[in-house]
Amino acid sequence: MIIDDEKLQRTLEKAKSHTDAEVTDILNHAKQLKGISLEQAAVLLNITDKALLQKLFDTAKYIKEAIYGNRIVLFAPLYISNICTNECIYCAFRRSNTALKRHASTQDEIRQEVTALLQQGHKRVLMVAGEAYPGGGLQYVYDSIQTIYDTRWNGQNVRRVNVNIAPLTEPEFEELKKCNIGTYQLFQETYHKKTYEKLHLAGAKKDYQFRLDAMDRALQAGINDVGIGPLLGLYDHKYEILATLEHSWYLDKTYGVGPHTISIPRIEPAEGSDFSQHPNDVLSDDEFKKCVAVLRLAVPYTGIILSTRETPQMRNACLELGVSQISAASCVNPGGYSYDKDNGSQFTLTDSRTLAQVIDAVVDAKHMPSFCTGCYRLGRVGKDFMDMAKPGLIKKHCLPNAMFTFAEYLEDFAPAPLKTKGYALIESTTKENFAEGSPIRQLIDDNLSKIKQGKRDLYF
Ligand code: SAM
Ligand code: SF4
Repeated sequence: MIIDDEKLQRTLEKAKSHTDAEVTDILNHAKQLKGISLEQAAVLLNITDKALLQKLFDTAKYIKEAIYGNRIVLFAPLYISNICTNECIYCAFRRSNTALKRHASTQDEIRQEVTALLQQGHKRVLMVAGEAYPGGGLQYVYDSIQTIYDTRWNGQNVRRVNVNIAPLTEPEFEELKKCNIGTYQLFQETYHKKTYEKLHLAGAKKDYQFRLDAMDRALQAGINDVGIGPLLGLYDHKYEILATLEHSWYLDKTYGVGPHTISIPRIEPAEGSDFSQHPNDVLSDDEFKKCVAVLRLAVPYTGIILSTRETPQMRNACLELGVSQISAASCVNPGGYSYDKDNGSQFTLTDSRTLAQVIDAVVDAKHMPSFCTGCYRLGRVGKDFMDMAKPGLIKKHCLPNAMFTFAEYLEDFAPAPLKTKGYALIESTTKENFAEGSPIRQLIDDNLSKIKQGKRDLYF
């Protein structure tokens, strides 16, 4: 059993009474980078004291820096269709929302969308769709992935396509794997079964267990990287974080590899959805940050993804707590980047900054923007990636690779002031992390010179 409801409720209840000393012990233990237990995570989720909360945030920052350094991966979602046969009461795409303009992008339109993303500087795309594909089967999905990879603009192309679509059967996952996807991502929405059944009224998505077992089928079908997450707002967030951890540990134990990423989307107002305006659980900003920090302590090697559902302030704050990937300049409707800027969005976005503005803020916060896809393209995926991540090697590979992709961005897309600031960050980061004369420093210096001379796509 992946989710034991009674166990989770019991653990949360018990964790309400805890001492300051207990919290300090847990934080010290977490600094060993070996994770924490379910019971310990529950205690941390129940912290209310401001000073202890700050200690939790400091510990999350310590772990993030020890494992990941200062790099932040950037990506954009690409909504190819908003047609859906399900009835999730929080989503504007649900089938009863007849006021929404529906459309599935044609392959030509997908090319236009990808071109618009490439023109901004994006290299990593998360393809998203409602559950209903033109033609009935999944061929539309497979074709769309191919179109995204095939699209070229000015020598630029998307280097990794991650996918967030409804759960598939094992043979379908095998077909999806052949499309060369990066991560297969799927949110359980809520791990609390009774709530799940109340919020998903019709369509294939009503089946809680088929969704919960999706990652088993994906991994068994040979998909290397999977991404999980709850949609915060549907049920008690503390329960959802514990359940996400249980899911993560279950996958790790069963398949020798946990999820590549955990996302923590928070519900946003969606057109025609009263529920989305008044969700079941409304988190304060501190509670949201606590969720990020507890995840960072509990599964230190798993990437944490934050979307543009959050405000720029919250996104900046979460960079310090262990978030390792953020979306930027997102649209959540088919056509949003090019041929239909206004219609059919899934929910209201909170961060509407351009990619250059997001990167500017990331650089000001002394984080290294990254478009790197090196591990995926070298086959360092799934267990191989985790094995490399665990002894801390990730920093030695990711940071130089991040700098190479960021230098490409600075050369090809950045406005002049950002270019100056960006290269200053690359220089100071190189000096701080890689000794002069060392082979790695030599490689970094060589590759940066090559990029300035026009070479592209360098990674190791
Ligand atoms: N249709 C597929 C599904 O539901 O799994 C995949 C794509 S769906 C568009 C992607 C995610 O959007 C959902 O899993 C859900 O967590 C999120 N979502 C839906 N309504 C939302 C809202 N009002 N605010 C924020 N996120 C929402
Ligand atoms: Fe459809 Fe996904 Fe929206 Fe549910 S969340 S209505 S399945 S697009």
